[in-house]
Amino acid sequence: MSDTKWVYSFGDGSAEGSANMKNLLGGKGANLAEMCRLGLPVPPGLTITTEVCSAFYDNDRNYPDGLDSQLNDALEAISKAVGSDFGNPENPLLVSVRSGARASMPGMMDTVLNLGMNDETVTGLAKRAGDERFAWDSYRRFIQMYSDVVLGVSHDNFEEILDDYKMQQGHYVDTDLTAEDWQHIVTVYKQRVNEVYGDDFPQDVMEQLWGAVGAVFGSWRNARAETYRRLNNIPESWGTAVNVQAMVFGNLGPTSATGVAFTRNPSTGENALYGEFLVNAQGEDVVAGIRTPQNLTKIAREEALSDMPSMEEVMPEVFGQLVDVNLKLENHYRDMQDIEFTVQDGKLWMLQTRAGKRTTAAALKIAVDMVAEGLITKDEAVLRIDPMSLDQLLHPMLDPDAQFDIIATGLPASPGAASGAVVFSADEAEKAKADGRKVILVRMETSPEDIHGMHAAEGILTSRGGMTSHAAVVARGMGRPCVSGAGSVRIDYDKQDFQVAGVTVKAGETITLDGSTGRVMAGEVPTRQPELSGDFAKLIAWADEIRRMRVRTNAETPADAATAVKFGAEGIGLCRTEHMFFDANRIMAVREMILAENPDDRANPLERILPMQRDDFTELFTIMSGMPVTIRLLDPPLHEFLPQHEEDVLQVAEAIGMTQDKLKRRIRELEEVNPMLGHRGCRMGLTYPEIYEMQARAIFEAAINVAKTTGSTVVPEVMIPLVADHSELKELADRIEKIAQDVMQEKSAELDYLIGTMIELPRAALRAGDIAKTAKFFSFGTNDLTQTTFGISRDDAASFMEPYLSRGLFEYDPFVSLDQDGVGELVQLAAERGRSARKDLKLGICGEHGGDPASIAFCEKTGLDYVSCSPYRVPIARLAAAQSYLKIRK
Ligand code: PEP
Ligand code: MG
Repeated sequence: MSDTKWVYSFGDGSAEGSANMKNLLGGKGANLAEMCRLGLPVPPGLTITTEVCSAFYDNDRNYPDGLDSQLNDALEAISKAVGSDFGNPENPLLVSVRSGARASMPGMMDTVLNLGMNDETVTGLAKRAGDERFAWDSYRRFIQMYSDVVLGVSHDNFEEILDDYKMQQGHYVDTDLTAEDWQHIVTVYKQRVNEVYGDDFPQDVMEQLWGAVGAVFGSWRNARAETYRRLNNIPESWGTAVNVQAMVFGNLGPTSATGVAFTRNPSTGENALYGEFLVNAQGEDVVAGIRTPQNLTKIAREEALSDMPSMEEVMPEVFGQLVDVNLKLENHYRDMQDIEFTVQDGKLWMLQTRAGKRTTAAALKIAVDMVAEGLITKDEAVLRIDPMSLDQLLHPMLDPDAQFDIIATGLPASPGAASGAVVFSADEAEKAKADGRKVILVRMETSPEDIHGMHAAEGILTSRGGMTSHAAVVARGMGRPCVSGAGSVRIDYDKQDFQVAGVTVKAGETITLDGSTGRVMAGEVPTRQPELSGDFAKLIAWADEIRRMRVRTNAETPADAATAVKFGAEGIGLCRTEHMFFDANRIMAVREMILAENPDDRANPLERILPMQRDDFTELFTIMSGMPVTIRLLDPPLHEFLPQHEEDVLQVAEAIGMTQDKLKRRIRELEEVNPMLGHRGCRMGLTYPEIYEMQARAIFEAAINVAKTTGSTVVPEVMIPLVADHSELKELADRIEKIAQDVMQEKSAELDYLIGTMIELPRAALRAGDIAKTAKFFSFGTNDLTQTTFGISRDDAASFMEPYLSRGLFEYDPFVSLDQDGVGELVQLAAERGRSARKDLKLGICGEHGGDPASIAFCEKTGLDYVSCSPYRVPIARLAAAQSYLKIRK
């Protein structure tokens, strides 16, 4: 145990860790080590590994043996590198203590800066910096941050003291305060700590350090970090590392600064250095969005019409170094980097680098550009894009023809347009979402505590903060439209309204945001779907060249089918015909068909429905022009089509000439205790064969018509649902084949068609070998297969799924992402058994899982021929299929 290495050092051009040790050192620690190896200016430091975090929680919040002495040794090394000592009153070393998990979790965990200050070292710092005021200001910042994070004395205490003091002394801004003022504030702060915490503010620097390390590990399990992990699928077991690093000061005067930079524009992907900085400030000031930062480059300043000078203009030399470092980092990592830096007295220091979060549009542009620049291959470009993030591009944009009133403009922090009623708190946003209302969350600035509300809202508007403020970063990550830093918006939380340009907007009133341009509009502005062209089209075309599986869509209406074709669908994998029956013009005929007590009475309504169904299929076949179309015969229990309310019963009885009593009795007869497992699917097809026969006839007639009129070959695939036994399929297939023969004879035409089945029941999966004797294709209906394998009703799971997920009983919802171990085993088994009975058996999936990237990877592994998903998932599935191919087969 004591042999384990718990602490890794870095600094002075060398490091014990490296970029590929993210699991152990966290992202921040691994990249700090890597930057040292690259010879970049990094303040020396140490990383306590994520294994310590796991050991800490496994061992009742106790640290493992050996950590203590390893930490001391590493601290010693830092002291040597910077030439000062931790706790030395003459020449004190100050450190920052920061979290750093494997995946970036911006702002979710705790940080302590200026650690190592006490009543003695404050004088040493003043001497070393030659600045008393700076030293006392740093000390009071440290007391404030440490007490809040470690001792649980909330920062309001300190703000109140400071505000009162400024009022008394007639000071307006912090910069009015002198060294003596800050010294006084320190005394009062310490008194307040004693009152609230019940003990003195710790003067022992080692006690301070252990306190901060404990707080960072503790913050791994705070509520906001837990929410963030849940939303981003980050496992609890990963833990965080802790980075302790020599402080450098961006607040030593006008030649000092702190900032963040992206090697490319994270919003558009443009290949230009992009970022913000603040002169004479500490790191957290930029991210917190409290002061509005200045641009890095002159061009950006001019574009933003800002009169605050850019870094390029005020610190040209350091700016030049920053540009070089950026280039070096981007070429080394071969990806866009997001870096944090500090300038202390004209010297540049790098504090962090990581792959930058970016909008999907930017991710696509960067990937496509980097291929053109020869930095990455096409395969790498395809693997770089998170398939689910493509959803952002499918988000509506403002309709260019719409008229609207712009009431404010801010920064275009996260693209897409959204409308909703104004709310002013995250809790209200969450509540509104639960009530099914669409809202826009309006805040002065957001903090990690607001994350649940940001998720619930359609869009986010803030009055303060830059492009790298919390709101902007988090909204981009979530794909929520966001306008940040709209300075003219004056929010009054008490009155629950905001004022802008002479207008008052109250809570509940609707506004529209355009996160792509930063515009805020009154009322609801119409939106339009974007065109999928440019970089998107290029990358997805590369994906299409790579992937093996085909991508079809689940669609029954002409509008959905057309959308899916626009998104690149290569056929229909599931046309649920029951939706066609609900159409207002035909529901009466459908009801009459169901209520009929014998086949003779049923013949007339079926005759009326036939031409309508034929028209439906004609339209679908025409839109799909020769691509495969799988039509699933009627599936749901018949009572779903019958009237529920008294007045409807009356109307139906009149329309079809039946007494109300008789109608009610028939409705009761058709009612079932457990309709999901009742008289549906092929069972209904077997008891009322005329319904399936009518549908088959409509399909074949439509196929022959379309082939004749358009010249394209239509090969319809007729799909029988909910088969459990081969005998069910066999009887229905014989009937359908007979209809096919009849239609071909009547029309004097030939027609190719396939009859197949869905695999939706465990028994069907087990008996797949038998079933494939008749079925020419299988489509895995994983919605029902999940329902019947788990024995969990797909309609009733919501009430217990959430606790199952939050308590970790299920890692994910099996109705969303396929349960590969259980349901997946049935799919694999059915695929094998089916294929050994029929070599050319076509295999696909049409449950909701067909649009889920993890499930798509499973389908690739299993060797399915295609996946079928809802139209809006088609681009996602195309990319996910390509990625699966690269990961599994290449
Ligand atoms: C399924 O069960 O997976 C399926 C696609 O059919 P439905 O959702 O219509 O039951
Ligand atoms: Mg089903």
